[in-house]
Amino acid sequence: MNAAGQDLYRALAQRGALLEGHFRLSSGRHSNRFVQKFRILEDPALLEPVARAIADRFRALEPTVVVGAAVGGILLAYETARQLGTKAIFVEKENGAPALRRGFTLAAADRALLVEDVLTTGLSMRETIEVVRRSGAAIVGLGVVVARGPVNLGSPKIEESTCALLDLPLESYDETQCPQCRAGIPLTDPGSRRS
Ligand SMILES: [Zn+2]
Repeated sequence: MNAAGQDLYRALAQRGALLEGHFRLSSGRHSNRFVQKFRILEDPALLEPVARAIADRFRALEPTVVVGAAVGGILLAYETARQLGTKAIFVEKENGAPALRRGFTLAAADRALLVEDVLTTGLSMRETIEVVRRSGAAIVGLGVVVARGPVNLGSPKIEESTCALLDLPLESYDETQCPQCRAGIPLTDPGSRRS
């Protein structure tokens, strides 16, 4: 972990963002640790330097728009875009399918910087990538606050251009093999996708 990553880790720990217990992740798998991303997103004094670190890593690629996924990605995209001087838009569900609503548009000439607060399996990011690709816009990279392990974004090019501020690989288990289930520890559902 580099110095910036260590600073971020300390800030998250101090704010109670790194939970320990028995959690059902959005993927359905179980883990003994959970990153409560809203402890970052709720505090402009922390989100500002976090977004600056992402903006600085991608500024030279001249993004024209920052794209996040609702709900957490709205805040991260906004603050990153503010610092880059671009627009910020977000993908959300429409009739159960990810889409750009509210008159948000992307053009083929756009250079989209994608952002994600906590990247776990990459499922929601794959949906965002698909929405951006349909518009014809280029994807210059993916800026992530906390990466939780190997992800499959369905695009080696985007995986190569992914930059995470903090790598925090977490163990996760299929329900049938979860040691905490076996020990009878009550399961909590932090509801990261359903909230
Ligand atoms: Zn379990």
